[in-house]
Amino acid sequence: MDSTAEFAYLNGHMVPWHDAKVHVFAPVAKYGIGVFEGIRGYWNEEARQMYLFRLAEHLDRFAFSQKAMRFDPGPSREELTEALIRLCRANRFCATVHIRIMAFIGGAGEIGATGPVGIAITALPRQSTQQCIRGASAQISSWMRMPDNVMPARIKCNANYHNARLATMQARQDGYDVAFLLNSRGKLAEAPAMCIFIVRDGQLITPSGTNDILESITRRTVIELAGRHLGLQTAERDVDRTELILADEVFHCGTGAEIMPVTSVDRTPVGNGRPGAVTRQLIEIYQAVVTGKQDGYASWRTPIF
Ligand code: PMP
Repeated sequence: MDSTAEFAYLNGHMVPWHDAKVHVFAPVAKYGIGVFEGIRGYWNEEARQMYLFRLAEHLDRFAFSQKAMRFDPGPSREELTEALIRLCRANRFCATVHIRIMAFIGGAGEIGATGPVGIAITALPRQSTQQCIRGASAQISSWMRMPDNVMPARIKCNANYHNARLATMQARQDGYDVAFLLNSRGKLAEAPAMCIFIVRDGQLITPSGTNDILESITRRTVIELAGRHLGLQTAERDVDRTELILADEVFHCGTGAEIMPVTSVDRTPVGNGRPGAVTRQLIEIYQAVVTGKQDGYASWRTPIF
């Protein structure tokens, strides 16, 4: 059974989980007209505190997604921040959670509807990813990442995830953990909910923002942490698929997945087939930053108590 929490948030109200409903013929259900953010709230047991990680950046992208999809103006940032905090408090979480905030077109309109804009928020306990211990196996998908002039990959629009889902289903059926998608130019784009980095000859390399990738907050965080803590600069450029095979290390990253080593691509081992040193150091510093154990990043963490 799917897990639930005590409360969800819907259109200004804290409601029991099972009452967070919209009509089945609302545009969000008919056409997938919604945009969303996945945000993590990290629990720090020692401080008895939960930190929302890079909330400001998530709300910026949430606003951009709505603008790109031509939604009518919705609630202000202040209202959204308050709603997120109220929801985490109401559920009395004492664990790391994954929060989903969605703006959607409700009502009974058709494909061109721009409102009414509804807001739904859910939060569920979700521990840090365990797969990092052994690393993931990746398949280069035969599905292509949709180009920006088909569907805008740089925003989090619900309907984009059909592309991600098809690639995920193929990878799972073929016995892999994750799909890597190439773009319409045959260059590396991203994984269904993660951006991709390679480490080669001591340099970090990741597909640039014009390779049909989401403008990922974890990607930006990794670039900053690698520069500051490991003295590693990141090249943001086109990446060929064969570079994945030549790489010393490969990892992917995202809010939900955090930083996860990828130890094989199309069954060919990456490096020595085990999580690499740079990836492991990045996981360590990332975990310290998000949970509030590393000084100096207070502006990235919004405490909820
Ligand atoms: N790409 C896609 C398609 C995603 O859905 C996600 C998850 N939000 C990411 C990359 C990683 O983005 P972020 O680091 O902002 O979570």
